[in-house]
Amino acid sequence: MKFTYYMPTRVLVGAGCIAEHSQYLCSLGQRAFLMTGKYSAAANGSLADMCAALDKEGIRWQHWNQVGPNPTLEEVRLAAVAARDFGADCIIALGGGSPMDAAKAVAVLAAGEIAVSDADLLSQRRFVKVLPLAVVPTTAGTGSEVTPYAILTNNTLKTKSFLTSEQVYPKLAFLDGRYTLDLPLKITAATAVDAMSHAIEGYLAVRATPPGQCFALESLRLLGPQLSALAAGQTLDLAGRETLLHASMLAGIVISQSGTTAVHAMGYSLTYFKEVDHGKANGVLMAAYLRYLTPARPQEVSILLSALGQANIDSLALTLEKLIGRVQLNPDEIDRFAAIAIQAANIQNTRPQPVQEDLKTMLGNSCKR
Ligand code: NAP
Ligand code: ZN
Repeated sequence: MKFTYYMPTRVLVGAGCIAEHSQYLCSLGQRAFLMTGKYSAAANGSLADMCAALDKEGIRWQHWNQVGPNPTLEEVRLAAVAARDFGADCIIALGGGSPMDAAKAVAVLAAGEIAVSDADLLSQRRFVKVLPLAVVPTTAGTGSEVTPYAILTNNTLKTKSFLTSEQVYPKLAFLDGRYTLDLPLKITAATAVDAMSHAIEGYLAVRATPPGQCFALESLRLLGPQLSALAAGQTLDLAGRETLLHASMLAGIVISQSGTTAVHAMGYSLTYFKEVDHGKANGVLMAAYLRYLTPARPQEVSILLSALGQANIDSLALTLEKLIGRVQLNPDEIDRFAAIAIQAANIQNTRPQPVQEDLKTMLGNSCKR
């Protein structure tokens, strides 16, 4: 057996965790650049709680609320200039994967790498300096609070690209389920399905690790009943929300070690060209991916389905369709998206490794007209 495992994020969980553990913020710096989307952080109480904690600890802050969904390289460069002009010595993100990922890029750029080219930003693994980062996830799906990745929209390459560096692991992650209570059903479902995809893909990845596989099964065991409840139209109470947040964090730890596979590789085109939410893009492809893997890895697929509480792939497909709906592609889109996906690095992380024709089949079976 051979693997490595590194997870340096301090995770603080529970109602009121920002106020309760505000002392840890002092270890980050004295001038915090606070990054959020336009509305949700102000509406769900996370922004007010963080500002109060920073004030209590005597840390100065400036708020940037311009992070949009699927942040672009251009957007993070703008934010980095503002962070540098403020003299930020640490970055704090509150929101879904978009603000957290944007904050990771800003932590690199504002620390002194502002002139770095996009190609270097996306290919370098070590930077001279990266500002320390704290995050407050307010969706339960991406797990970005515990990963070394920032996924950025790359308009030059017309896809989503990865910044990957151990230096962008958040130092602190505050998980308070109360901030997710008013998350609309559509976003709740798409993000929970993203977490499920991370656990499944991370378990099956070429780079899967034994501890990651334990976390993956536990994540799926927690997600299964919540996904079924959501598919049946039930609303989740605080305990259900906390379970999703916990499961999503566990699945984030899984992919922090293993990376993702063909599902994410194909899903990026659905998001870039068809504006399909990230989690939904993965979810519509999942059944076809598991059917593709089953002949070579029947036992592992069956272990994953049973952890989720699903009898077979058909029942999972039905639950997912109820949760996130469908996506339709025409033959030309299927060809183009397969051609793009085959070039993604996470294809090599898929076992058995698909060829372009396999991706066409998966896309075609998932997104029939
Ligand atoms: P998101 O793009 O961060 O947010 C989607 C929407 O949800 C936004 O409109 C946001 O509003 C709203 N929202 C967030 N929290 C809310 C709350 N508590 N209540 C009500 N509305 C809320 O969505 P996401 O799915 O979390 O993140 C997707 C991004 O993460 C993609 O770019 C994806 O590629 C990336 N990702 C990263 C990793 C990683 O390891 N780094 C892993 C998977 C996915 P506001 O804009 O007003 O905040
Ligand atoms: Zn994802």
